Amino acid sequence: MSLNRLFRLISAALLALFLAFAVALVWTEWNTYRSGANSVPALRKLRLALLAMEKISAERGPANAVMGAGASLPPELQARLANARAQSDAALSQLRAALEADARLRQSWAMDKVRLVQQGLGPARANVDRVARLAPQDRSDVLVVSAVSSMVDLMPLMVRVVSDLSNEADRADPLLRDGLSAVRAVASLREYAGQVGSRFVAPLIAHRQLTQDEVIEIGRLYGRIELLRSFIAGQLGSYSRAPEFAAALERVEKEYFDSGFQFLDFLLQIGLKSGDFGVTPSDLFKFYVPSMASVTDLRDLLLDDLLEQAERHNTRARNLLILVVSLTLMACLFFQMLVVLIGRRVVRPLVQATDLVSGLVDGKLEQEIPEARHQDEIGAMMRALRVLKQRMRERNSLAKEREALITQLQTSSNTDFLTGVLNRRAFYTHADQQLGVAQRYGRAVSVVLFDIDHFKRINDSYGHQAGDAILIGVSQCVAQLLRKVDVLARYGGEEFIILLPESDLAQAAAVADKLRAALEERVFETEGDRRINVTASFGVATLAGGEALDKLTKRADIALYRAKRLGRNRVELAGDELEEP
Ligand code: GH3
Ligand code: MG
Ligand code: MG
Repeated sequence: MSLNRLFRLISAALLALFLAFAVALVWTEWNTYRSGANSVPALRKLRLALLAMEKISAERGPANAVMGAGASLPPELQARLANARAQSDAALSQLRAALEADARLRQSWAMDKVRLVQQGLGPARANVDRVARLAPQDRSDVLVVSAVSSMVDLMPLMVRVVSDLSNEADRADPLLRDGLSAVRAVASLREYAGQVGSRFVAPLIAHRQLTQDEVIEIGRLYGRIELLRSFIAGQLGSYSRAPEFAAALERVEKEYFDSGFQFLDFLLQIGLKSGDFGVTPSDLFKFYVPSMASVTDLRDLLLDDLLEQAERHNTRARNLLILVVSLTLMACLFFQMLVVLIGRRVVRPLVQATDLVSGLVDGKLEQEIPEARHQDEIGAMMRALRVLKQRMRERNSLAKEREALITQLQTSSNTDFLTGVLNRRAFYTHADQQLGVAQRYGRAVSVVLFDIDHFKRINDSYGHQAGDAILIGVSQCVAQLLRKVDVLARYGGEEFIILLPESDLAQAAAVADKLRAALEERVFETEGDRRINVTASFGVATLAGGEALDKLTKRADIALYRAKRLGRNRVELAGDELEEP
């Protein structure tokens, strides 16, 4: 797999992994924020439910007082009852409106229970009113107890509503759990305190001793109240160390437990022995009910604090979400930049360098090597490649020079420096090859050897330089008359040799004679406008069978000497003899 492809694959895989991680992180934070955003509305609904519960409980105070009043009902008490009823109705409809406004809670169990309480309030109130309308002596114990119970019996439904809404807030923000359970405990304390007060209403009205059932029920409520007392103290301790909570708890201890609760205890002591309480339900309502205000105050303090906390958590969750999203975006951007940077500054130059190196190996020295743009390892590599290319170019031109030199050397070593025709050594190499070919194919080949006549005299008469010029002129004159396949060479001082391929003795003799005649006719002009004539003597020999080159030239040489001896400026044909006669 190519580096480029591998890099792209790894980058894509890493990006996918990173994105998955980022999405999971953002999703988690988003969910925390989303569910946290529900905590404040849930707490507001819880507060409405607690308020409704408190109002229904509070309604029992004037209701009980009305049932315990004399034959003529004081209008002030009646007004109080009407006011309390209006308050619980208002609180309930507020709660109902809040639940109806929430799409999730519109069909909930909590909503069903609120409806049941609203429906149940009418008959319960009718019971109370029926008892109140009776003459005091006709208000039987059973009637009073049942009227009180019909109001008390609505409370478990409200407790369930509170419980559901508190769970809702807990789900939205689990950090509120401690505070929520403290709120529920305080609300329960308020409820049980109300209930235990209500248990005294019937005995107070009937001026009778407490029944055994009432004693048991009051004892049970006492137990619950004591349990809640210690639970609330413990829960508040772990919930907050703020002084206002300690102060509120102290108020509950002082105003409710030391005063209201003590008053009930006093009634209990009397009720255990006789019905001589000396207290009317109205007195109970006036004295006992206000002592419970400290409990609802503690509850409201807790609720306010919870709301504040929930809002703080929401803000924090929102800020965290913004932080996570921006960090994720930045990390994504950074990652993308990193990938692009590595791609541009490492992978692409590496691939390019590989192509360049392969090109150099293939001898493509004209390819452009890009400028190093950065002072890094890749830049150093590009610079090294430039140097490499330069060296390869230099080496190539050196090699070319050497080849030219070798060719030149070969030429000069094969050529006669004066006349420019082949020298004797080169002639032998050439002639040997030609002879080999001729012998293999049975072709004719002849040799003509000629020597300028009385050349010494020319040197002596006109000077050595003139002699040189004659030598050059002779070689040129002869070369002009030969075929391309013929090979002319300087054999020695003023002696030349010609190889004539595809020529038998007669043909070679004819060529020799043509040359002889041409030389005889030719006038050589040398320095000082001197005109010089020369002649030459020729010996011609043709290849006989498998004869060697030196034998052939030897025979031509003998023929040449014969030509000299017989008067010069003539052509003599070689015979078989190898020795001069
Ligand atoms: P013959 O007709 O018997 O050949 O007489 P010749 O004078 O030509 O023969 P000889 O061998 O006596 O003399 C050859 C002369 O050629 C001697 C030498 O000085 C001269 N010679 C040889 N090589 C060169 C050369 O390269 N340049 C010049 N100028 N003279 C040369
Ligand atoms: Mg000579
Ligand atoms: Mg000679």
